[in-house]
Amino acid sequence: MNVLVINCGSSSLKFQLINSDSEEVLAKGLCERIGIDGSLTYQPAGGEKVKSGKAMPTHTEAIQFVIEALTDPQTGVVKSLDEIGAVGHRVVHGGEKFASSVVITEEVKKAVEECNDLAPLHNPANLIGVNACEKLMPNTPMVAVFDTAFHQTMPEKAYMYGLPYAYYEKYKVRRYGFHGTSHSFVSRRTAELADVPYNATKTIVCHLGNGASVCAVKDGESVDTSMGLTPLEGLVMGTRSGDIDPAILEFIAKKEGLDIAGLMKMLNKESGVYGLSDGVSSDFRDLGTAAEEGKKPAQTALDVFAYRVAKYVGSYVAAMNGVDNIAFTAGIGENDGAMRASICGYLQFLGIQIDEKANATRGEEIMISTPDSKVKVFVVPTNEELAIARETVALL
Ligand code: ADP
Repeated sequence: MNVLVINCGSSSLKFQLINSDSEEVLAKGLCERIGIDGSLTYQPAGGEKVKSGKAMPTHTEAIQFVIEALTDPQTGVVKSLDEIGAVGHRVVHGGEKFASSVVITEEVKKAVEECNDLAPLHNPANLIGVNACEKLMPNTPMVAVFDTAFHQTMPEKAYMYGLPYAYYEKYKVRRYGFHGTSHSFVSRRTAELADVPYNATKTIVCHLGNGASVCAVKDGESVDTSMGLTPLEGLVMGTRSGDIDPAILEFIAKKEGLDIAGLMKMLNKESGVYGLSDGVSSDFRDLGTAAEEGKKPAQTALDVFAYRVAKYVGSYVAAMNGVDNIAFTAGIGENDGAMRASICGYLQFLGIQIDEKANATRGEEIMISTPDSKVKVFVVPTNEELAIARETVALL
């Protein structure tokens, strides 16, 4: 079956058409600036990437252009819509309602809408994508795959904040975690590579991209993860602060005359390694170059990032009373050997030894620990689109 995987943002829409039997990507692309002017980038497998301007007042036009591109007689990859068997939608927040993926019904859409409060930037956009697809493909089954679902196995002691209980009861203020599709995919694959049963091994996944999170997976279940109610908690990220002393907010608000919106912008867009490096970049390649050129704030940003990841890994060893495998994934985790080495340098107390030659490879599945390392360490490229396609087929 061919599955169309859709990841819909407020003004963008990423898509991949995946043949679920061969797991081949038939075509992929991106609609940008929806509601502003609009452009479509489309690339069929083995073909050239083409970007064209298209008027996209709403997501419905965007999806219409995606369908036209996929079925185009020259550059398309299917003859008609009938060859698209299902649509898998990435949905960011499933709250406490969704502990797994679901076939989309009117009831499901209502329940997702009830989670809008928890992810005001993402969930409404995800729903717009669902509605637009329904309009254009009324007979095609659709599945919602949630970023939060994998973490619904976290125990209460891991998901409760030290805040008044009433906020949990009234507003569901608790830790949810994100990147669940990636953590689930990578931890499963790690168990396969380590040749151990998934439901009897302890793995820590470090998903290190622009957004970054660590997850403790014990016997196939997420037992803790570093993001919380929102994706702002935890690691120092590209532009997000991660954990800070909450009292800093009042202090900075008074000094800089910021209101809540100003503070949130600072925490989400102006902090992280970008802020720490004094505005050099949020991209680790630029930071590496700047650090080599002797720019101290860039080196500080890299040091703070590595130290925070290592501390989270250490705390998850305690959470699981041990660890068998550690996996690195996403842009930085897959490509930045120096960062992996720096993080693992803090973990020698676990008996971790890194094979320098293996660690020098980029972007491929590989064990980077030595044969006598007490904990196996892997690089496992994540593939959220494939994971969504697999979930979609499994449900249908
Ligand atoms: P997201 O999906 O959260 O936007 P990605 O997983 O694509 O992020 O990761 C993007 C980040 O990966 C970039 O900001 C960059 O810092 C990092 N990255 C990508 N390639 C490399 C590389 N070769 N070396 C170091 N860092 C890299």
